[in-house]
Amino acid sequence: DAVTRDGVAVQLLGTIEFPHEAEMIVDRGGHGIGLYRTEFLYLYSQTEPTEEDHYNAYSEVIRVFSDMPVVIRTMDLGADKFTQSRRFVREPNPFLGLRSIRFCLQNLAMFKTQLRAILRASIHGDVRVMFPLISSLHELRQAKMILRDVMEDLDEDGIEYNPNMPVGIMIETPSAALTASILAGECDFFSIGTNDLIQYTLAVDRGNERVSTLYSGADPAIIGLLRSVIHDANKARIGVSVCGEMASEPEFVMLLLGLGFRTFSLAPPMIPEIKKLIRSVTIESCNDLARKVLMINSEREVINYLRNAAIKVLPEVFKRK
Ligand code: PEP
Ligand code: MG
Repeated sequence: DAVTRDGVAVQLLGTIEFPHEAEMIVDRGGHGIGLYRTEFLYLYSQTEPTEEDHYNAYSEVIRVFSDMPVVIRTMDLGADKFTQSRRFVREPNPFLGLRSIRFCLQNLAMFKTQLRAILRASIHGDVRVMFPLISSLHELRQAKMILRDVMEDLDEDGIEYNPNMPVGIMIETPSAALTASILAGECDFFSIGTNDLIQYTLAVDRGNERVSTLYSGADPAIIGLLRSVIHDANKARIGVSVCGEMASEPEFVMLLLGLGFRTFSLAPPMIPEIKKLIRSVTIESCNDLARKVLMINSEREVINYLRNAAIKVLPEVFKRK
């Protein structure tokens, strides 16, 4: 189990893009799906996936996990991920453009098809829905309103679903992180998407190699936001996890534990290594490390400090790098 030396349990979930990856998470010792990136259903098909395509994909994943959580993120299209039909629609600033939940809220028929399938699949297990790139309360309310509309349609058609399916959001824009206390009042859980949170907070395109040295989860701006989001989530008593790459990087695990995170969604191949790291530390030492890191002002010093600490705990992980 992913339990620290002083007995604190950590929930390790997996991140997937395709249903066939679900088995891999079980093999690697994960206990559910923390992030299912459903947009991949759209990327490789010439036609838009039907409700049945969605439903079959979700059911295949849920079957693997029975009573373990399966967090289905609604499609995160736009930016660098296009449907076949939108491949040639170019925007001047696609990462700041019609992406993700914004795209869904302007393409309601497509969005409703997906939500209908998620709701239908919700009766087969512990299914939770998650909206990506929420950047304001208004957007969350709109998305929830569409979900309610779809529930009403299902009621009219006499189709079963879980009316209490938890509804969460990704915290991956600075505005969401900074208004987490407000958003927490209207959703059931948060999952922090550090990949985008870093990109938008530090104004560094996550896919641009020319600025990749500026992209870092060790920046005090990011650590400050993580601390504030977990504080707000705990205060509102809602679940909070980290599903960005940061959770899969051994140098950040002790810091995340020390900040109070207890649920991570990882790239499946990283589950055993991160579990080993968790089993090698105490929460007390992680709390101590987080306290020290919060007093360091420079990203360079933070990353060096974190690497040295992780090397001491698990030298073999870094020898391979
Ligand atoms: C993230 O932004 O951290 C995230 C997990 O979402 P994606 O990488 O799919 O944008
Ligand atoms: Mg993201």
